[in-house]
Amino acid sequence: MIVVMRPSATQDEVEGVKRSIEEHGLEAFLSVGEERTVIGVVGDVERISHLGTLPGVDQVIRVSSPYKLASMQEPGERTRVRIGPVEIGLGSELVIMAGPCAVESREQLLETARCVGREGARILRGGAWKPRTSPYSFQGLGVPALKLLAEARDVTGLPVISEVTDPGDVEIFDQHVDVLQVGARNMQNFALLKAVGQSRRPVLLKRGLSATIEEWLLAAEYILAAGNPNVILCERGIRTFETATRNTLDLSAVPVLRGRTHLPIIVDPSHGTGHRSLVGPMALAGAAVGADGLLIEVHPDPANARSDGDQSLAFEEFGALMDELRRLQFVRAAGERASAPLERPVVASGVDDLRERIDDTDARLADLIQERAALALEVQRRRDPHVHGHDVRRERDLLERAANGTPGPMTPVELTMVFDAVLRASRSVQRRHAQSVVAAEDTAVGNDR
Ligand code: PEP
Ligand code: MN
Repeated sequence: MIVVMRPSATQDEVEGVKRSIEEHGLEAFLSVGEERTVIGVVGDVERISHLGTLPGVDQVIRVSSPYKLASMQEPGERTRVRIGPVEIGLGSELVIMAGPCAVESREQLLETARCVGREGARILRGGAWKPRTSPYSFQGLGVPALKLLAEARDVTGLPVISEVTDPGDVEIFDQHVDVLQVGARNMQNFALLKAVGQSRRPVLLKRGLSATIEEWLLAAEYILAAGNPNVILCERGIRTFETATRNTLDLSAVPVLRGRTHLPIIVDPSHGTGHRSLVGPMALAGAAVGADGLLIEVHPDPANARSDGDQSLAFEEFGALMDELRRLQFVRAAGERASAPLERPVVASGVDDLRERIDDTDARLADLIQERAALALEVQRRRDPHVHGHDVRRERDLLERAANGTPGPMTPVELTMVFDAVLRASRSVQRRHAQSVVAAEDTAVGNDR
């Protein structure tokens, strides 16, 4: 900290400031200039916030950041937060968190969970307690919703996030969810920040409706200082004079934060815009500006949602957005995620739930196999129909990779059997296409004769 004295400051006033600094156990270094005296302070400056009020003081300038734990120590420093099998931050792929604003029923949640999981979301969201502006609006299902979220995690393997609004609820959240969300309205609920700071779960801290970036980072500091190092920041729009959108999504916060903190940063285009049609464009913009993840509201029937229906995407809309994120390579293609189900823990849940999860996996497998066949077909289309499109060397490599095994209960021999079948079926697709082209050529030649 640097204390700049007024040009008119007397020797006594300079001595008074120096004494006050030293009385608080800090060191003061005087630099006497021609016009004014400047005092450098070394030590814990939080204890001397009163210096600006002392006689003769013109300005007090902070040099080090007030958020010591949240601040970046080295340029480019980044923290990675682990949420079950998912990692967010340093070098991670864009992590999509999606689900309904509020958990409304078992069917609504499970249906949405399966949809977002199939489309490539890595975390399921759902509000159990909803901080609503009006006391007459739907307030959330409370504890039963937490239990449904835990069930949805068991069924889909997706970790779950939900908003905690009361410090007394942190313990029950710890038991049921993987990430605790602190909502915009509670960003400066210091009792809540301290309570989630004592949780063993990662915390997603939303930016307050009218919070500056510094206030937001100081709120994060509360959680870090209470002992929880796993904080993720979420830009969700701020209040401005603009009424065309629900909030003004401050995407510049992402690169600003990148220069100030090592914590992961995600963007919530749903609350940031308030309108379904704006969610996709701003999600892409959030990805483009370098966010580590996106938080997106998705509902099976947005028109009848009990909260935030206007900004919730229907399943097809969410699927289209995920396609676009994949096309632009912000998230990996489905094929590259093929090993993801193996990372998912097989949790102890009922047989029905396990079977539902198998059905879900089968549906994804079918999609992947079709995708592979479509690619093989495209290769055949670009080749001479008299030559087969498959490349024997690549096929052999693939079978060799299978024979070397991928972690999981299947032996290399069993895995080879699966790939062998996939390859044969793929070749059959290529052969059928080649034959139809050759037959068409023959017909054309016959007609010419
Ligand atoms: C929410 O995520 O549903 C929510 C209430 O968000 P925010 O705190 O950003 O308004
Ligand atoms: Mn919402």
